[in-house]
Amino acid sequence: MKNKCMNCGATSDEKVLLPCEDKGEQKHVCVRCLPVLIHGAR
Ligand SMILES: [Zn+2]
Repeated sequence: MKNKCMNCGATSDEKVLLPCEDKGEQKHVCVRCLPVLIHGAR
């Protein structure tokens, strides 16, 4: 199973993915979505 961005669903084939944790679950977020998450626009 491939890791996907938890925000936009991009795989590591498309974007660089970074591991993160959300409500105790290990997830991934791509570099495009990371600034959005940092600024809380979810
Ligand atoms: Zn994304």
